[in-house]
Amino acid sequence: MLYETLRSLFRRPVTVEYITKPGRMVPVPERFRGKLTYDRDACIGCMLCVRVCPGGVITSAEERKVAFNISRCILCGQCAEICPKGAIKMSTQFEIVTFDKNGLIVK
Ligand code: SF4
Ligand code: SF4
Repeated sequence: MLYETLRSLFRRPVTVEYITKPGRMVPVPERFRGKLTYDRDACIGCMLCVRVCPGGVITSAEERKVAFNISRCILCGQCAEICPKGAIKMSTQFEIVTFDKNGLIVK
C-alpha cells in the first residue's frame, strides 16, 4: 500500500476538472449522448420516436408534433436513430439538473 501511495504522488490525476464557466466545460467525446434537441419544423409527426422510446419520454402533441419529458430520458439515443427526418439530435449538453421540472419539457 505504501508503494502505491508513493507511486500515485508522481502520477497525473485520472479525474478531469469540472469547469462551469461558459465555453470552458470539460470536453466530451464526439459521440457523447447528452440532452436531446428537437427540430419542430423538420418533424412530420410519424410517431416512430414515440414507439421506440423505452422510457415513455415522448408523447404526441398538437398539430402532429411530439413533446419530450427530459426528466424521464435515459439518453439511449433510439429516438434520434429512428427519426426519418433527423429532427431529434443528441447534443453534448450534460448539465440537465434543474429546480424547475417544467424546464425539462421540450416541444
Ligand atoms: S434518448 Fe431514449 S429515452 Fe430519451 S427520449 Fe430518446 S428514445 Fe426516449
Ligand atoms: S420520429 Fe422524427 S419525424 Fe417522426 S414524430 Fe418523432 S421527431 Fe417527428
